[in-house]
Amino acid sequence: MKKLLALTIGVLLIYLVYYLQKPYAYSSVNPISEINPLILVNSENAFPDNVNLNLVKFQEKEVSDIIYNDLVDMYNAALKDNITLKVNNAYRSKKQQTQMFNNKMQSYQNEGYTEEKAYEQTMLTVQAPGHSEHETGLAIDFSNEGHYDENEQMWEWLKNNAYKYGFILRYPQDKYEITKIDYEPWHYRYVGKKAAKEITNQNITLEEYLGGNI
Ligand SMILES: [Zn+2]
Repeated sequence: MKKLLALTIGVLLIYLVYYLQKPYAYSSVNPISEINPLILVNSENAFPDNVNLNLVKFQEKEVSDIIYNDLVDMYNAALKDNITLKVNNAYRSKKQQTQMFNNKMQSYQNEGYTEEKAYEQTMLTVQAPGHSEHETGLAIDFSNEGHYDENEQMWEWLKNNAYKYGFILRYPQDKYEITKIDYEPWHYRYVGKKAAKEITNQNITLEEYLGGNI
């Protein structure tokens, strides 16, 4: 019985590894979302509630349909270089963002912070509801939980290649004054291929590219 269980687990593991490595080569979608890939969402610009988003699944996470085909191409290209792009976070609803924000704030209050201080502290690490790029479905956090070395390779690959598929490193090093967010090597934002190439080549942020709010 134990052998059978071990065998079953073994087969499942092999299947899981195969499934995670499997290229998405043949899947594609026809986007119907009405979202501008250059939309600016940050601490000063909220994501409007009335944007018609169509979400599709990628690695069991949801993303805006307009990024799907390029994401698949990027995933396959990385795989050829022996990098598996693991999506850790993608779309998050405003409700989920609110929950996340409140939980973080509550944990600070539990530590003895006043409500005001807890709010200030939370704002440093979690975007206020309506202000997270994850609500657009255009942002992805790439990360293998618990495998820091693997992440390093993944992030290095993304840094050098993501722009070819329309993605930018959204919160680069030394750009806090502009983005109001510390360096996040895992957070990539879809802006379309033309903008991604220009932003990456010029080493600027989306804020600078759009010329406002800086
Ligand atoms: Zn993120």
